[in-house]
Amino acid sequence: MKTIDDFNFEGKKALIRVDFNVPLDGDFNVTDTSRIDAAKPTILKVLEDGGSAVLMSHLGRPKGKANPDMSLSHICETVSEIIGVQIKFAENCVGAAADEAVANLQDGEVLLLENLRFHDEEEAGDESFAEALSKHGDIYVNDAFGTAHRAHASTTIVAKFFPENKCFGYLLAKEIKAIDKVMQTGEKPVTAILGGAKVSSKITIIENILDKVDNLIVGGGMTYTFIKAQGGKVGDSICEDDKMELALEILKQAEAKNVKVYLPVDVLAADDFNNAANTQFVDVDKIPDGWQGLDAGPKTLEIFKQVILASKTILWNGPVGVFEMESFAKGTIAVGNYIDEATQAGAFSLVGGGDSVAAVKQFGFDDKVSYVSTGGGAMLESLEGKTLPGIAAILD
Ligand code: AMP
Repeated sequence: MKTIDDFNFEGKKALIRVDFNVPLDGDFNVTDTSRIDAAKPTILKVLEDGGSAVLMSHLGRPKGKANPDMSLSHICETVSEIIGVQIKFAENCVGAAADEAVANLQDGEVLLLENLRFHDEEEAGDESFAEALSKHGDIYVNDAFGTAHRAHASTTIVAKFFPENKCFGYLLAKEIKAIDKVMQTGEKPVTAILGGAKVSSKITIIENILDKVDNLIVGGGMTYTFIKAQGGKVGDSICEDDKMELALEILKQAEAKNVKVYLPVDVLAADDFNNAANTQFVDVDKIPDGWQGLDAGPKTLEIFKQVILASKTILWNGPVGVFEMESFAKGTIAVGNYIDEATQAGAFSLVGGGDSVAAVKQFGFDDKVSYVSTGGGAMLESLEGKTLPGIAAILD
């Protein structure tokens, strides 16, 4: 796996695909700089070697048309402050404006190209567009994990114009190593905690990770499809009746593969999907009609705790309750605390995929786990066992 450390950028132009798809407020100020902060080490390495950096990214969904609201020019000042160099800006990512700006770029300088998605060809993975982009650098560096699952021109196709001179930036390399640590090289016992709303959205992940983990903790809305399939009463809880057979099949597969599955045994049930609803703790398979399970109960959390504290490698995807409502957030917070404790005792913990990161950030666990993935969709596809095109293009 070639990373940026395998190259010396002295006198070279690095063409770096970054993920600067940052949130902007009504005055076009950047409201969360995490993605720019995350790209900083890669950009600094190029500059410290004595090279220059040409940065390319998308911002928002302009759908192939130039749109001033989604211009990357809005973020130039913020990027300059974070990198510590006054960056230059090209008003187009291809064509005369870009070519000229690239030609004038000196060692030690940074150029940001305008939004790639102002051109339809980016998302279409157009080869001649990718070739035009490739002219902007001597070495191609992909540091955008968030788009690594897309075969776009700047994330995948462009790599073929750099048969020898292509590599992963620090951020993307870190993501790949973190995923490998869970899926391939993790110290046992390996535990996956899967929560969230539906079995249907997690099924491919479950099937893939049954070959990698020792323990599978299932929580959240997914629980009730399993419980009902086993003959339990789930009241008005979220349940996918058409996935009940699949749930039983998963349990059978897990048994055959020697994976221990831990489902909730008690839940906090509510008489309405509402923070102020009446609540009671009930056995997970005896939820009265008119009530729905919205969080894990104390007996369940005790079981989850024992499994998590005994784990050496932990993957967490999805909340174990409706964490957006304070009344039903306690289970998710407790799971975060157990993972924190296990991590402090030496376990490797990875959180990511979909909206998991939002839950983790909301409760301040992002500093307590070993690694928080930056790519929602890209992480989910990695957990599903798919080879991401952006990663394959560098390894090719
Ligand atoms: P996902 O994006 O699949 O990880 O699902 C996350 C969503 O699942 C969150 O918005 C939670 O509110 C929701 N969720 C978790 N537990 C439950 C539950 N018991 N009933 C309904 N929704 C739930």
